[in-house]
Parts: sequence; C-alpha cells; structure tokens
Amino acid sequence: MLQWQPYALIPLAGAVICAIVCWSAWRRRNSTPAARALALTTLGIVAWAAVEVLMYSVSTLDGQITVGLGIYPGVATTVLGTFWLSRVIVDRDATLRPVVWALLLIEPIAITAAAATNGWHHQVIASGTLVGDPPLVVAQVGLFFWLHSAYSYVLLTIGMLGVVKARRTATGLYRRQLTTMLVGPALMSSVNLLTLWLLANGGTVDLTVIGFVLAGVTFWWAVFRQGMLRLVPVARSFVFERVTDALVVIDRQGQVIDLNPAATALIRKVQPALPDNLIGLPYHVLVPGYGPRDRLVDGERAVLAGDRQIDLDIRSGDLTDRTGASIGRVVVARDTTELNDKKRELAAANEQLQEQLRTIERLQEHLAEQAIRDDLTGLYNRRHLMHTLDAELSLAEGTGQPLSVVLLDIDHFKYVNDRFGHAVGDELLVAIAGVLSSSARQGDTVARYGGEEFVMVLPGTTSEQAWNRAQEWRLRCAATAVPTDQGPLSATFSAGVACYPSSGTSSAVLLNAADKALYRAKAEGRDRVLRADTLAA
Ligand code: GH3
Ligand code: MG
Ligand code: MG
Repeated sequence: MLQWQPYALIPLAGAVICAIVCWSAWRRRNSTPAARALALTTLGIVAWAAVEVLMYSVSTLDGQITVGLGIYPGVATTVLGTFWLSRVIVDRDATLRPVVWALLLIEPIAITAAAATNGWHHQVIASGTLVGDPPLVVAQVGLFFWLHSAYSYVLLTIGMLGVVKARRTATGLYRRQLTTMLVGPALMSSVNLLTLWLLANGGTVDLTVIGFVLAGVTFWWAVFRQGMLRLVPVARSFVFERVTDALVVIDRQGQVIDLNPAATALIRKVQPALPDNLIGLPYHVLVPGYGPRDRLVDGERAVLAGDRQIDLDIRSGDLTDRTGASIGRVVVARDTTELNDKKRELAAANEQLQEQLRTIERLQEHLAEQAIRDDLTGLYNRRHLMHTLDAELSLAEGTGQPLSVVLLDIDHFKYVNDRFGHAVGDELLVAIAGVLSSSARQGDTVARYGGEEFVMVLPGTTSEQAWNRAQEWRLRCAATAVPTDQGPLSATFSAGVACYPSSGTSSAVLLNAADKALYRAKAEGRDRVLRADTLAA
C-alpha cells in the first residue's frame, strides 16, 4: 500500500527547511515576539508538508484522500502564525488578546472537524481520481474547502496590508525586513493561487508545496541574513531615523548592521571614499584613524572632513536581548563642532574681559596712588600726610614709642624763583625732594607740606635722633645742585623738630611746635635745625 513518489521530495525539502527555521526561532523565543510567531508559522508548514509527504507515500485513492485531509491543522496553523507574525513585525508590543485568539481558533477547529467528517458530507473533498504512475490523487474539492481558502486569504491579506502600511514609512534595514516579510507569504500565496486555479481547471499536481519551500527559504533569509530576530523592528525606528545624532548599530563581530540617515550623512562627510552601502562594513573603517584592533572608546574626538575639523562626541552602549546576553552595540556620535566653537568664542571673550578688568584695576591703583601723591615731586601730598600722621600717632600711643616730626622750609626760595625763574625753582624742589626721599628709612613718611615746605614723619625716633638725621639731610641738601645758565645752583633749608609725646600728642600741636622751631631757625640766620623741646621760652 506504500509507494515511492518522487514528488514527495518537494514537500520533504520544505518540511526540513521549515523545521530548521522553526527550531532556531523557538530557541530564541525570548529575544523578540517575532520569534514565537515565526516558530508557529513554520511549525504549521512542517505539519502541512509532512502530511503531504505521507499522502504521496500511500498508493490507494482512499488512502491518499484520508491522509490528505490531515493537512488542515497544519494549513490553519500556518495561516494563523503568518497573521500573528505580520502583527508583531509591525509593532513588537502588539499582543493578540485571548478573545481574539479564541475567535481566530474557530475556523481552524471547524475546518479540521469538517475534514475529519468528510466521509459524511464530502464538502471538503468531494471526490478524487488517481492519475499517473506512481499514482497521485486528483481531488474535486467541496464547499468547505472554498470557504476555508477564502477565510485564509482574508486573514493573510489583513496581516499583509498592515505590513505594507508600516513599510511605507520605514527605512533602512527595517524596511528591507518588511519587504522580506511580504515576499515570503506572497510567493507562498501566488503558488497556492496558481494551484487553486489549476485544480479548478482540471490540473493534477498540487504545487502549493513549492510555495512552502520558497516561504521557508525567505524566512530563513530574514532570520539568518537580515538579523530579524536580533534587531527587533519597532515603531521607535521612526525616532532612530529622525534623530539628528548619528546612530550606528553594530553586531558582536563589529559589523555595521544598521545606521540612521544622520550617521550616513556624517560618515559621508568624513569618509567620502567608502562604498554606498555601509551595512556589513566593519565598524572601524567608519571612523578616521581607527584600526581593526581599536576598541570603541567613548569621548570627544576631532576628525577631519576635507580640510575642516569636526568635533565628535562619541558614546556607545551595549545592546542586550531579554536574557541580558550581549547582541551588539549602539554607537551615538554627536557633532559638537558648533558647540565647541561657541565655547571657544566664549572663552576668548572671557579672557578679553579679564584683561580689561586687569587694566581697570591697574588704572584704579594708579588713580588711588595719584590721589595721595604730589604731582611735581612724587612725594606724598599734605592730605595723605595728615592721614598718616594721625595713624602713626595712634600707633605710637599704643606702643609707647616716641615719634618725631621734622618740618623744613627752603631758605630764600623766592630769590631762586626771582633770579633763575620758576622752572629752575621747580627743578630744585624736585632735587631736594629726591634727597629727602632717598634719606627716608623703612616706616618714615616724606611729604610735601606746601610750596617749598616738607614734612618727615619718623616713627620710633626721639627728638635728638630726629635732629641728627635732619642735620644729615641739611648737609646733603646743601651739597645738591641743579645746573643753571649761571652755574650750579643749590639751596639750604631751615627745619624745626617736634617729638611725641614731649612736644605734644596731636598732629596739630606737633606741627605747630615744629613750625615754631622752624620760625626760630629762620630767625637765627637760616640753614639750621632746631628742636622744639630745647627752645628757650
Ligand atoms: P625764607 O627763607 O624766609 O623761607 O624765604 P623764602 O623766599 O623761601 O620765603 P617763603 O618761604 O615765604 O617763600 C616761598 C616761595 O616759594 C613763594 C613761592 O614763589 C615759592 N614757591 C612756592 N611753591 C613753589 C613751586 O611749586 N615752584 C616754585 N618754583 N616756587 C614755589
Ligand atoms: Mg615757605
Ligand atoms: Mg622758604
């Protein structure tokens, strides 16, 4: 009753191929919902094809019809699986609710029941005749068969229309996967339609099995060559396509498996010589200066696009499947050139501002110094002197140290001006100021008190020490000359010394006492220094 029918090889090949796809999809059933749907679809094909192989192996008419009626569970499973696959491939989060599953199961159960009871109603297979040698059944199909075919095509069409719709807006690898998703069932359906047409027009051989083989190969392609199960297409791919950051997805072997338009544009800019299709290239060739052994390093990187430098901020993250196993990496590159340019501009502007601030500070210091200095001689002015003297007196009060004040006035200075002119008078003033300031010690204050009068504040100095120092200055001053058209000109001065606390404790009293001593020095013939505390009343 058994026979060897060469045609059996066709469904046998389809069954083997689909069994491999089914097994592989089932093994990865946790990586994407598409895996389970694909496993169910291919399981249906395996069952369908296996029944056909069996049917071809039986030699009697009744045997072939009886076995052949067993294809319906497989056929219905294939249709159902393909519908489910078309849903999850469009939207990975799509779930078919239990009530939908229940409704979808009605027809498979009904057609299976109808096939099982065909002997009573003959509405699946009406009759059949054997043709050829080894013999093959040619069946006249019944109403239920046609109802089942119509239902199956409606369901498949609804699923495929969803894929067509999603494919319209998809790009890149996802679009290619959706195309494959259409090609497989389309091949299967067209071969099946051809068979139906042949059967309706007196044909003999059922070619539908060739459709199974083609669909199996197509799914095989989608699974193993397009990484459909690894890279799950999602509605979020829209974001992937539109985001301005460059995104590159690489598999564990370091090969590019997807990239968005921003990445393509960026890579074209920096690596114009690369081939059109970047998918499948090793990652390192995309980045100038990377070698095959270079690991992905996160951070800023400057690359050249022609003669222009582009700053890139490169980050990468692990891609894992649901079990946490690494399936590749996603690399994000952001062009930070503009941002960095702005930062550099800001830094330059800031530096300029700092420089201006330093200038202003210098000018301010200069102004502050000017406010306390005398223009002509560069000595402290009277205002500063009074300020300093008050401060030094409080200090002396605190420490109990003496403090002396020397007030000096140049002798016969009117005569100098009258005889040599004001300019020479100025020169002489500057020269004498120089002598005085060079004679000053740490802590002393030398000031121009008025016209040709000067005051020296000498903290920690007794009246006698001050007198001695003033005598030195007097001699040095007398020895200092400025050139005139009538030969070198020098001047003497008279001075009065007053000391804290013996001559007074306030600046006014001290200066007044010094002035009195000075007046006495002038009166006694000039060119001398007198102490207030030794003046006879
Ligand atoms: P005495 O010995 O009594 O001090 O005689 P004197 O001529 O110096 O008299 P007095 O001190 O009163 O004269 C001050 C003169 O100093 C008056 C003024 O012409 C001159 N004088 C004041 N300030 C300046 C100055 O800045 N430059 C010049 N060239 N002369 C000045
Ligand atoms: Mg004077
Ligand atoms: Mg004078």
